[in-house]
This record gives sequence, structure tokens and C-alpha cells, in this order.
Amino acid sequence: MRHGSRTSRDDQQEEPLNPESPSLDVFWHDDILLHDTGEGVFEDAPSPLMYAQEPHPENATRLLNVKAILERGPLRSRIRWNTAAPASEDQIHRFHTRTYTDCVREADTRGPLRLDGAGTVAGPGTWRAAMRAAGLSIAATDSVLSGESRAAYALVRPPGHHAQPGQADGSCIFNNVGIAAHHALDRGVKRIAIVDWDQHHGNGTQEGFYDDDRVLTVSIHMPHGCWGENHPQRGTVDEVGEGAGIGYNLNLPVAYGAGDACYDEVMRLAVRPVIDEFAPELILVACGQDANQFDPNGRSLLTMRGFRELGRQVRAWAAAHASNRLVLFQEGGYAVTYTAFCAHATLEGVLGVDSGLRDPAAYYDQSGAGTSINPGEILKTWRECIENSRRNPGPTNP
Ligand SMILES: [Zn+2]
Repeated sequence: MRHGSRTSRDDQQEEPLNPESPSLDVFWHDDILLHDTGEGVFEDAPSPLMYAQEPHPENATRLLNVKAILERGPLRSRIRWNTAAPASEDQIHRFHTRTYTDCVREADTRGPLRLDGAGTVAGPGTWRAAMRAAGLSIAATDSVLSGESRAAYALVRPPGHHAQPGQADGSCIFNNVGIAAHHALDRGVKRIAIVDWDQHHGNGTQEGFYDDDRVLTVSIHMPHGCWGENHPQRGTVDEVGEGAGIGYNLNLPVAYGAGDACYDEVMRLAVRPVIDEFAPELILVACGQDANQFDPNGRSLLTMRGFRELGRQVRAWAAAHASNRLVLFQEGGYAVTYTAFCAHATLEGVLGVDSGLRDPAAYYDQSGAGTSINPGEILKTWRECIENSRRNPGPTNP
């Protein structure tokens, strides 16, 4: 049964979908705009020292720009717009504890509150937005599993990959990709790979599947480490999983300043071999764009070219292992305009096209940035850590 349904926008498209061309289903609903994070000093509270505050970096505008570029840009004729119902509470509770979801609901009534005591704001509208985001994520996954979509993109907020089973973190409320993965497992998928190239460690997703050998979690991120009580995971290569999950979590911290070539090497030389060994039946991608070179919340240097290559690679992996079953989930990406261009580039890669859309911000030649990283060495260390964890079992996740 298909959870999603076509929006009326289909009827308004000027150019019909070409059945011979690769196409993409995007899942959207305006409810995701209801989550209001306010303004302040970046993600911190407003400062009386400032003449003007700024919007919280995780805001609705950034996603409206992604939506706009997909509606108006060169990929528009290849995109079908879909919507879906909110998730059910049972679906949310496949990943999150009831105690935690009660906190979110309370913040929706009494808020705005900072759920993690830091930058994660929740208030009136958050519950509806987060439930809708999870529902769209599930529907995008269903559309791929049913064969109705060749690839799907859940264009959702609030983002999810930092949200752990029992707590909010890093502007994330419900772990959309984790909830979607549980849904796919419930539908009988046996092996799922979650590839997370958001600039920050996908710690919530890692936590949710840390002892689970059915879900391979891979995160490429800058080496920011722990950032407080709500984010105890380090994102280091020695966090390999626990119990049955040992060997099913791969962290790839890349140095600050990593660019297109570095990410390309990490994907080809470190992630691809592990994906090949695992042979997933479904690939889910936490596709934040905050590794872009102008992101205020990231320290990497990816351009549109780099994101296009990321999209192309996961498309190839899905073709090799997962009968083309590929779902992308929006996460971070805080440069209000450039994020949209990088999202467009990612989808070009997924669709196997170069649309000719000009990179408006590729000022500097950073093609060699960050190539001092040796993906083969990281992978060797990871395998040694797995052996060590098997010899000395015990919790490695703080
Ligand atoms: Zn991020």
C-alpha cells in the first residue's frame, strides 16, 4: 500500500515526466514549516549585546529554498511531488522512548524550550512538524520498497540524525532516517545501510542501531567529538558497535578543510568496500549539505561538484546491491542559499545527469583540500578495533 499520494502540483507541471528519463520522488508537506526555532546568536539564545539577532540556523527558509530550486531548476521535469500523512506514535516509538516523546509533546504545549539545554528548540508547532517529517520519511521509504519510485527524497525538518532514542540533540527532534529504517525492517528488509554524510556525526542513528547487525551505520563527519551531555558519542573510528552490532558502525572523521577530492576518496576507498561486504538490500542516505564550503555550521569545503559525486556514488551502490532502492533524507545544511544548490547537485548525481546548473560559489580551487587523509589507513584501524571489541566485549559507546 502506498502511504504517499501525489499532490495537485503534478497537474501544474509544465513539462511531463519523461518515462525514459530517470526520475525522483520528493516528499514534502507544509507542516514541516511549523517548527519555529526563533532567533538569537546563531543557535544560542538572543544576546542583549547585539543590535540585531539572526535566525536560528535550522530554519524553514533553508528548506523552502531547496523546494524552490527543485521546482524551478533544471531537474523540475524529472521530479514528482508527493505528500503523506503524519507518522503514527507507534511508528515513532519503534525508535524513540515514550518518555522522550512526552517531553517533545510537553514542549509543544509549554514551549518554546531548549530540549537539550543548548541549541535544540521545541515549541508550539514542533510536534506537528516532527510527526509529519517522520511520516514523509516513512512514505518515501515505502515508495521505493513498493517499486513505485526509482529513488526518493524526504525533504523534511526538523532534522533527525542527532536525535537518540531517549533525547533530543543538535537541532534534531525525531530520528527520521532511523524511524524509516525500522519501518523497512518491519516490512521484511533484512539488511539496511545508512550512509550519513552530514557534516556532523550521525550519533543518534549510531546509538539507535549500535547493537544491531541488520543496520550498517556509516558516518562521514568533521572531527567535532562530544559536544555535551546530550551528545556523548565521539564519532571516532573505535566506536564500532556492541554485541551483535560489532562491525556494523563505521565512523569516518575527516579533517577540517576536507574538500571534494577527499570526500570522493573516503567514499570510494573506505565506504564502498564496507558496503560491498554488507550487501544492503536498501540504502538510506542522511544527505545533509553542511559540508559545503560556505556553511556556517561546518568546516569542510565541498562544492556542487563534490555533492554531485556523492549522489552518483550512492546511486551506483544501490544499483549494485539494493535493486536501485535508495532513499535520501534531508538533515543539516545551513547556508540559506548554497544548501539548495548543493541539494540540487546531489540529486543530479543520483539521477546520473549534469544539468549544467552553474555553481554560484566555486570561487577557490580547493580540489586538493584534505587529501592528506588516508581512507585505507582509517579502514585498517576500524578493522583492528572490531577485532579488539570482539576479544574484549563491552560497551564502547559512552
Ligand atoms: Zn549537520
